[in-house]
This record gives sequence, C-alpha cells and structure tokens, in this order.
Amino acid sequence: MKDLETKYLYPKNPKKIKYPIYPYIQQLSDYKVFKSNYISGHRENRLKTKLESLYKNSEILLTNSGTSALKMGLVCLDIKPNDEVMFTNFNCPNIIDAVLSIGATPVFVDIEEDFSLSFEDIKKKVNDKTKAIISTHVYGLKENLKIYDWAKKKNIYIVDDGAQAMFTLQNNKFVGGHGDIGILSFGFTKPLSSIGGGALIVNNKSLIGRLPKVPIETEEEVYIDYKNYFRSWVLCRLNTFYIPSKLNKVWYRLFKMPETYLSKTEAFPRNIRLIEIKRMNRLREELILKQFYRYKKIRDYNIANYQEMNNNLKCLVRYGIKLIHLDKGESPNYYTLIFPNEHQRYECSEYLAGKGIQTCWNYIPLDEIPIYSKYKSNTKNANTVWGRVLSVPFKYPLVSKDIQYISLQLKNYIGKSTLLNI
Ligand SMILES: *Cc1c(COP(=O)(O)O)cnc(C)c1O
Repeated sequence: MKDLETKYLYPKNPKKIKYPIYPYIQQLSDYKVFKSNYISGHRENRLKTKLESLYKNSEILLTNSGTSALKMGLVCLDIKPNDEVMFTNFNCPNIIDAVLSIGATPVFVDIEEDFSLSFEDIKKKVNDKTKAIISTHVYGLKENLKIYDWAKKKNIYIVDDGAQAMFTLQNNKFVGGHGDIGILSFGFTKPLSSIGGGALIVNNKSLIGRLPKVPIETEEEVYIDYKNYFRSWVLCRLNTFYIPSKLNKVWYRLFKMPETYLSKTEAFPRNIRLIEIKRMNRLREELILKQFYRYKKIRDYNIANYQEMNNNLKCLVRYGIKLIHLDKGESPNYYTLIFPNEHQRYECSEYLAGKGIQTCWNYIPLDEIPIYSKYKSNTKNANTVWGRVLSVPFKYPLVSKDIQYISLQLKNYIGKSTLLNI
C-alpha cells in the first residue's frame, strides 16, 4: 500500500530549496523591451533570422507556445479526424492535447532503454491510418533516425519535437531540423528557458503553402507571461530562505504554484486543453532573443556539469543505479538517474529534499492520467521505468562546488540505504 501511495506523490519539496531543479536565469533587466521606442528601434524578425541560421534550408514560424506550434504543424500535415498519430506515453500532456485538438487518434508507442522511440513497437502498431510519428527526444537525448528513414518510405510524416532538445546535434543537424516538421519551445523548463513561446520548423518545403493563417497575439498576452516569469523568479529566490511550511503553503497559493504541494493524482489535468494558435508578438520575440544570447555559454556549462556529475557518480553503478551517458552532440535538459526499484527512488528524493535539493520525476505515463487512459496500449518499458527515474539539478548557474555537493548527498543516501538493507 505504501508503494502505491508513494508512486503518485510528487517528490517532497525541500523546506528551503538550495538547489532548484529549474533555475530561472534572470530576465528581469529585459523590461526595457516593453518601452515604447524599443520595438521601433530594432529590425523585424530578429529571432526568426537567428533560428533560420541554425536551421538552414528550413522555414521558421514563431508561435505563442510550443504546443500551438505542434498543433499548427499537424494542421499543416493535413492530419484529419480518425487519422492516427504515434508518440511515446512517457511524455507531457501538451503533445496529446495537440493531437486531440485536431480530432486525430493518439497511439502510444513504447520507448527503448535509452529513452528513444521503440522501432519494434512502431512496426507492431502501424496501420493504414497511421499518418505521423512525433519523436520527443526525452531529456534532450537522440532519437533513432532509422525510424525517420523507414517512415519516409511508408509516407508517414515525422514531427521532430525538439522542445526538450534544442541545441542537441544529431547527424550534424540541430534537433527539430529532421523529419518533415520540427518544433521548439521557449518555456521556462526548456533548454532555452524564457517566458514561453514556440517555433514551428518546416523542413519539408512542399508544406509551406499549407500553413494556416492565424492572428498575432496581443502585447498584453506577452506582458502577462513576462509577469508570471518574474513572479516565479521571485518565488525561486524566496525559497532559498527557510519559510515555515504553513506560510509556505500560503506563498504557493498566492503565487499560483499549487502543484508543488499536491500529489501527482491531484495535479492531473481534468480537461483536455484548448489550444489557440497565434503567431508570436515582436515583444516576445525580442525577450526570447535576449535569452538566446545568454544561452550560448550556458549550453557548455550544462554539458560540463553533467559530465562532472556522471564522473562523480560512476561508483553507484555497482548498486544497480543506471546513469545516462551523453552521446556526442547531445545537450541534456535533465540529469536523470534510474534506480533499481521505485521504493529507493521515492526515498532518495525525500532524502535529497532534506538536504535542500529539489528533484523531479518525469514523466508519469499519459495513460495513467484518467482523461487519457482510454488510449492505454502495451508500453511496458515506459510504464515500468517511470517509477524509478529521478532528476536532480545540474544546470547553470550551478558550479563545480554545487555539483560536488549534490553528488555527495546522492552517494550518502546510497550508503545509508545499502547499509540498512544488509
Ligand atoms: C514542453 C513541451 C512541448 C510544449 O511546449 P509549450 O511551449 O510548453 O507549449 C512540446 N513537446 C515537448 C517534448 C515538450 O517538452
């Protein structure tokens, strides 16, 4: 029974978060973008041009979110009601909401041990109705490009979802640039962390004429997202001080971040989200561009921190813990350990919380969320691995000293837990 309870609880949040899992890189000084003469003083399409230099030979269309870029992409691929779209259930709800919003049928496929889509399972589940496959590059990792070649021969479209994997290079091309279309997201949990926004990357030129006409979002909408980002930044700072838990609850309510105190089941979406596709306002474009310049060096920091953590933790392998080794070109969005059992994962996340280290468990498989459970399909790996994954902070602005601290705490937990088991 205990296992069942802990399985659906969020990792306990530290009372005082020394190491947040998503560090907000401050965007506060960027308020100048909202001043009346800022936009008129700059050229148009600066972010679009920047992205087109990363994705040569592709057309970029900027949107108000990654989910709306995905929905726009699916419309562009002419996916119709009752067509089937495949993707892994080890995923965030945004993907399934985009698929459902155009009336298509989601088909869950399994993942391999390296978190890439299972070619074998795709071949098992493919049929005449299969129109597209969305690959999500879990944690920022590579996908199996053999699936892309196979799909092309079968006239099945590939959506290269780079929301988690912007800056990961595969075959000398940035993720998002493979397949027929790709998408990016600029939400705060993503590699290029900003106030939100998205990009549709049209790689298959024959699709450009099919792009639907959509309105541009208002300045007010951008301002609301900027304010939310600002608020979360303040909250993140505040959490580095100890706040008595009663007061803390009030803070979370006040800042509308209740999910940190609820169990997974309570935080489940109750409804399928409506997705309004809008083109990106220039204000948002300028804000994201400013983050883009900051991120050049952040990518290298993140990779170095990741390697250092892996190096520190390699001794844990003999306790049955699996580490993910980066392949050449990979730019990770999470540092994730895979425990031998669910109980240890839960206990470790609790232990780390006591040391001020916030953790997260990505992802609860979509078919375990009641509103999507009717699409349940045989996806054994995804449904068994999720109870054992634990992501720990590793990103910039953490430095070597912080990585040492986090890895030491992980090792301490393992030391304690194995001692007890003997
Ligand atoms: C976050 C995410 C999206 C959606 O992006 P938003 O900007 O949050 O709408 C799409 N795909 C993946 C893999 C994601 O992680």
